[in-house]
Amino acid sequence: METIVEHIKHKARELGFSESAICDAEPLQDPGQRLLEWLGRGYQGTMDWMSRTRAERAAPRSFFPEAQSIIVVAHNYFRENEPVLRPERQGNISIYARGRDYHKVLRKKLHSLLGYIQTLLPEARGRICVDSFPLLEKPLAVKAGIGWIGKHTNLIIKKKGSYFFLGEILLSAKLPPDPPLAADYCGTCNRCQVACPTGALDEAYVLDARRCISYLNIEHRGEIEPRFREGMGNWVFGCDICQAVCPWNRFSAHTGERDFDNRLPDEWFDLKQLAQMSEKEFRNWFAGTPVLRTGYANFMRNVGIALKNREAGSP
Ligand code: SF4
Ligand code: SF4
Repeated sequence: METIVEHIKHKARELGFSESAICDAEPLQDPGQRLLEWLGRGYQGTMDWMSRTRAERAAPRSFFPEAQSIIVVAHNYFRENEPVLRPERQGNISIYARGRDYHKVLRKKLHSLLGYIQTLLPEARGRICVDSFPLLEKPLAVKAGIGWIGKHTNLIIKKKGSYFFLGEILLSAKLPPDPPLAADYCGTCNRCQVACPTGALDEAYVLDARRCISYLNIEHRGEIEPRFREGMGNWVFGCDICQAVCPWNRFSAHTGERDFDNRLPDEWFDLKQLAQMSEKEFRNWFAGTPVLRTGYANFMRNVGIALKNREAGSP
C-alpha cells in the first residue's frame, strides 16, 4: 500500500512536476550565513528587498509559523527544437520568458496539490510559494535532495539539467523528509564561469548580480554602465549563457506543459522591429509572459544596447 508521501509524489507527477521532495521547516544555517556574506559584499546591487528580508529568508517559519514540512517541486520548462541563443539580428529573450508567466501556471498546480494533500490530511494547512515571498528556494531544493547548486548558482538536477522552475508548499503537517543531496557534480568543470561575458561568475558558486546580464536587463532601472553594455550582446531580457554551456543540460528534455510553449513569433525577436515597438504593442505582444515585468522603458533601453552591439559587430 502506498504511503501518504508516495500518494503526494504521485499526484505531483500527474500535475506535471518532474520532481517533488520533502524537507523539514527548520532554519537553514549555512545558506543563511552565505546569504549574509553575499549581501555584505553588496552583490545584490539595487535589489534592496534582499537586504530587507535577510533575517526571514533562511527561516521558512517566518513566512508560515505553523510550517513543519516543506514540499519542494521542480517543473521543466525546456523546449526542444528551439534555439536558446538567437542570431545577432534578433534580440535574445531567456527561454523561460518566452512562454506563459510561470507564476500563474505553478501556483495553479500547487493549489491542486495542496487540495489533494488536504483530502489525505484534512487537518493540514498550507501556504504556497512561487516567488510570492523570498524563501531560499534553491538551498531548500538541495535539502530535499532534488539537486545541487552549480558553479553558475542555478539548481541542477542530475541527468535532467537546470531548466526548471521551483515552487514550494509550506505544510503544517509533519512528513518524513527526503535525504539531502550532499554531492556536487560540477567537478573540475568551469564552463559557465569561462562563458559568462560580464565576469559575474568570477568566483565559483557566487553570483555578482551587479555584473549579471539577467539582473542588468530585468531588475536594474535607468542607465547601464558602459563597461557592461558590450557583454550584454543581443540579450534584451534575461540571459541563458551559463546554462546553455552547462554539460548537464545535454540531458534537458522537452517540457510536457503547453503553457510553456513559445508564445512569441519569430518576427517579434527582430531587433529592428523591436526598436519601432510602441508601449501599447509591447503590452500586447508580451501579454501574459514574464517579459512585461521589466517595463517598456527598460526593455527599449535593452533593445537600444543590443542594436548598438550589433552595429559594432557588423563587418
Ligand atoms: S546569466 Fe549570463 S551574465 Fe548572468 S551569470 Fe549567467 S552567463 Fe553570466
Ligand atoms: S557549466 Fe560546469 S561548472 Fe558550471 S554549473 Fe555546469 S557543470 Fe557546474
